[in-house]
Amino acid sequence: MTGVQHITHILKKCEKSINILRSLSGAFLLEPCNKSSLSALDKIQYKSLRIIVGAMKSSPTNALQVECSDHLSIRRQYLADRFLFKVIQNSSHPLIDKLHQLSEFISYDKSWTYKTTPSLFRSFLKFLRLPSPVHQCVLNPLFDNPYHSLVYQPDISLDLGISKKSTDAEVRLQDYISKKWNNWLVMYTDASKLSDQECVGAAVWIPKYKIILNFKCPPVSSVFSGEAIAILEALLYTESHNVDKTVILSDSKSCLQAILSNPFRNKSNFPCILIIRDVLYRCHLQGIRVSLAWIPGHSGIVGNEAVDLMAKDATNNSCLTHPQVFCHDLFSLATQKMMSSWLAEWKESSKVKGKYYADIQNFIPKKPWFFEYNEASKFCTSTLCRLRLGHSSTPVHLAKIRIRDNSLCECGLDDGSPDHIFFNCPKYSVSLYDILPPYIPKPTNFKTLLNYVNSPFIVILCNYITSNNIKL
Ligand SMILES: [Zn+2]
Repeated sequence: MTGVQHITHILKKCEKSINILRSLSGAFLLEPCNKSSLSALDKIQYKSLRIIVGAMKSSPTNALQVECSDHLSIRRQYLADRFLFKVIQNSSHPLIDKLHQLSEFISYDKSWTYKTTPSLFRSFLKFLRLPSPVHQCVLNPLFDNPYHSLVYQPDISLDLGISKKSTDAEVRLQDYISKKWNNWLVMYTDASKLSDQECVGAAVWIPKYKIILNFKCPPVSSVFSGEAIAILEALLYTESHNVDKTVILSDSKSCLQAILSNPFRNKSNFPCILIIRDVLYRCHLQGIRVSLAWIPGHSGIVGNEAVDLMAKDATNNSCLTHPQVFCHDLFSLATQKMMSSWLAEWKESSKVKGKYYADIQNFIPKKPWFFEYNEASKFCTSTLCRLRLGHSSTPVHLAKIRIRDNSLCECGLDDGSPDHIFFNCPKYSVSLYDILPPYIPKPTNFKTLLNYVNSPFIVILCNYITSNNIKL
């Protein structure tokens, strides 16, 4: 009776199922799929979300999804977008042709006007409608660049001993330059993005010759790409003018780290970074010495402050000098699209159900609030989630769903609403209203307080619930 046989049996059984998972993982095509099957999947998700936040069975599902920041069909679309945006960077990928064929077929076949198109196809349409062309390679970006440029070790310093907090950053930088890079041509680079809708500006500033080079990239571009373009342009200037010793100073640590990292060990190789490596290698072959270094931004370094203004200025350039977008920047577009389509759906659906919750939560959170405040006990987060969803075990709600025959509080003085329980009920020695912090404007009601889950007030709220053992 050691149980060994039983366990071996279970292990064998599990191993079979694991093999199925193994073969399916990585390629899980759910759409196109039968609508009722997909809705069964939604139902099981609602069930799980209810258990996670401890919500009541009657809670509106659309509100539940927002509270937990999870929405299956919107997430499927998001994953399809990301997948497609990755695929299209390879212009020879077989899927691109197939999707073009499908798009022609759909435009001829009228019956499609009444059907929902597959999510991957919708992602493809997004790609076709992009206002900017996408940077594509025929091969994997790694194979599109010469091998020697990939293994070349560029000279990059990430620490000159000047920190963000240094008050004498300019003096220390000039001192460093005169010691290490005496007689080298100094260039400053920077990029700027004022908002998601606006173009990205990039600039190179060469104080010795009073030369400003400025560039503009489409709004989809990230600041990272802008920084990379500024560095690339500084390098191209160095190469074309045959400047024998150049030092390029950038305040983008992430960009310099990306250039420094080994492309073979890197999961995500940015095409623009590989191009920079290639130019660096070419300079090396021509005997042109180039150093790159990180300097802190916004810390009083004169050249950096100047190039920052120039990059901001470049966002207003009339000409888009770098119209192509890189695939890695499209990923954030997928996130933006997911959030905006969910918000539109939430605004529409909350007119019918989840109205109470919509007054409290009018935007889609990136993460659930209880992820941010993880010291809260499950008891506390459940109570707050129930109160926010407007479906909690208050006497008023229990009477509404006919579990109780009256809505009176146990104290017998008033209806057992959240306002009464937290502000006026004599059962609790201190009223929450009296201990509200000064940053919460009074008069207020309890529903308004439920807006404050992302603020320090959450601590007071949770302590109040726990110390008074309020079970709702
Ligand atoms: Zn009471």
